[in-house]
Amino acid sequence: MSERNSGKLRVRFAPSPTGFLHVGGARTALFNWLWARREGGTFVLRIEDTDLARSERRFAEGILEALRWLGLDWDELYYQSERLEIYRRYAQRLLDEGKAYHCFCTPEEVAARLGRNRGLEYDGHCRGLSEEERRRYLEEGRKPALRFVVPEEKKHTSFRDFLRGEISFERLTTGDFVIMKSDGTPTYNFACVIDDHEMGITHVLRAEDHISNTPKQIWIYEALGWEPPEFGHLSMILGPDRRKLSKRHGATSVEELRAQGFLPKAVVNYLATLGWSPPGGREIWEPEELIQAFSLDRVVTSPQVFDLEKLKWVNRKHLSRLSGKELFDAARPFLEWLGGEALRDEGKVIKALELVVPSISTLGELVGNPDLEVLFRPPELDGAVLEELSRPPAPEALERLLEALPDAISREGLKPLVHRVAGELGVRPREVFHPLRLALTGRGKGPELASICEVLGREEVARRIRKALELLEKGR
Ligand code: GLU
Ligand code: ZN
Repeated sequence: MSERNSGKLRVRFAPSPTGFLHVGGARTALFNWLWARREGGTFVLRIEDTDLARSERRFAEGILEALRWLGLDWDELYYQSERLEIYRRYAQRLLDEGKAYHCFCTPEEVAARLGRNRGLEYDGHCRGLSEEERRRYLEEGRKPALRFVVPEEKKHTSFRDFLRGEISFERLTTGDFVIMKSDGTPTYNFACVIDDHEMGITHVLRAEDHISNTPKQIWIYEALGWEPPEFGHLSMILGPDRRKLSKRHGATSVEELRAQGFLPKAVVNYLATLGWSPPGGREIWEPEELIQAFSLDRVVTSPQVFDLEKLKWVNRKHLSRLSGKELFDAARPFLEWLGGEALRDEGKVIKALELVVPSISTLGELVGNPDLEVLFRPPELDGAVLEELSRPPAPEALERLLEALPDAISREGLKPLVHRVAGELGVRPREVFHPLRLALTGRGKGPELASICEVLGREEVARRIRKALELLEKGR
């Protein structure tokens, strides 16, 4: 057994592959992962794909890919769709023991019965079917679902949540609920219990929307004679308007954040702070540091607001920590538009990125970025720029700069050079800097000029100045 698996904590993340991995789901996965890694426990990934109508293979793959990208590695992976025999076996046991029964009602009949009984609860119609009635339904070709027996007195119930303390229900709204559907697949509550038990899960840490499922799951444990795990429920994640986070709040899936050019460790950092209050209020964390610092007693259950602006701020902090090589690798997918030729010189690309990245929040902002583009492609000097460049002392300044350009152009070297030329012409340095910027970039503003020169290199600086002078000549 590896060291990682020697601890006894076993937790899981159990997504349903019915869509992309949501930030809420990613936060649940992250907290389980941090906890398991902190305690030397086991992090189980379980794909809950028994709802054949809603689950899709591509979503399951997308979730796995998103978790991998975030760096949340799992120790064990299961697909519920490969475990149907197990659920059927336990379902049969509950049926044999009279703790569950066949229900032959069609969806329409169930809907009608729900209406009749306290609004939302199946009325137990099929609980006491005679052999005769059973036979008739079977002859009609009906396939039964399996319902779990919920005695009325059980509905006043409570459980202890390890994050929230005692949670009680005056009267839980539920009739006898379906555990196996008529197509032979289990429902969520049933498969979840069987698996959490079979997989030796010690603690179930999931989102608040499962609180009302917990008593139902505990009843199933009891019916099977099993000890339930401990349950803890995280808060919901809200949008800035304090409504449940959804599409209308913008990017809400990990896939979208990735496509926008957030760094995985920035996403991990930010999600960790949604429901975990870091010691000392420190805001920027590397994943390894989070593992060391994570503890349940700092998990808070108040609702958390997903703030994209805050995430951008965290992303900028992490971008500024990357080495040149790391920046290159992270930015690479956002540089295709520059063309393969531009990307060949890795050293130059790194210098260019180091120049431009401090002014962006996400790597997606590199796409079509004019400050970046001009470092790889000479600018088109439009009429207005040429008009500006034709005014003295610009042409003279450019000529003198061209003559005086040192062999290699360094960041430190530019300023003395410009000052010297300005001195010779008897003008302010600005009147030399500005035309140079226009000639090199075609624009009046952008990153520091000395750095631009350094990235371009002497040859290219000279070429662009010469080109500007030629155009001025022609325009005369
Ligand atoms: N498949 C359920 C969901 O995605 C899992 C809930 C649980 O963690 O028990 O909501
Ligand atoms: Zn029925």
